[in-house]
Parts: sequence; structure tokens; C-alpha cells
Amino acid sequence: MKSHRKELWFETKTRMAFVNITLDVQAALAESGVREGLCLVNAMHITASVFINDDEPGLHKDYARWLEELAPNEPTSRYQHNNTGEDNGDAHIKRQVMGREVVVAITEGKLDFGPWEQIFYGEFDGRRKKRVLVKIIGE
Ligand code: ZN
Repeated sequence: MKSHRKELWFETKTRMAFVNITLDVQAALAESGVREGLCLVNAMHITASVFINDDEPGLHKDYARWLEELAPNEPTSRYQHNNTGEDNGDAHIKRQVMGREVVVAITEGKLDFGPWEQIFYGEFDGRRKKRVLVKIIGE
């Protein structure tokens, strides 16, 4: 069995951001040489997500609005987590609902997506360096 590990690094300019990382994951798959297997992609931080959905700007604005309604950043005093001195209680909750990771099947050397599926990095406490793990296993 082959195995390949790669880290993708990000430093978003805004506190919340959605980044299409599909081409980066496809590049990691090409490096791996795996033709049949599985590809795991996960955020390595508890205030960021990896998820699959459509690359449609309106949808991403809808996510941002919905997440901010669900867990507004301010007032930061509403989160007991912030009693530790942090200010990112909202970002932990946003990450929880948007998920930690995705797994994509690899078939004939390609990511075996459904229609319109793309992989995104979701950032909820950005403006600092953070990373995503890509782990590919198979034959
Ligand atoms: Zn925190």
C-alpha cells in the first residue's frame, strides 16, 4: 500500500474565509501516485474546518451570515470559553457545525466527486498561520 502525507498552509486576510483547496488536494493526489484508495483532508486547528460543497459565492455569503447569526463573534463576553482570556469562542462553534474533515474516494487516479463537489478550507479565526493535513492511502 502507498501512503502520502502533505500539509497545506493558510494565512487568511480576514477572520472568516472560505478557500477552495480542490486543486491543492488534486496536486497531492498526483504526487502520491495512488490510483485506487482514500483521501482524508482535515483541518489541524479547532477553529477551522474542511468541508465539501459548491463553489458558489452566494452560498459562501449565506454560510458566513448563517454562522454569524448562530454564533456571533461579539459580544465576546457571551462565551464562557472566552473567560480563559481568548476571544474565539464563536470560532470553535462555527468549526463544529462546518466539520473537521472530509474523506474522498480515489478512483482511477482521480478524486471521485459527485456533481459540483469541491473541497473548501473554512477559516473562523484567521489572520494567522494555520494548516490542513492531506493523507492519501491506497494502491
Ligand atoms: Zn479558543
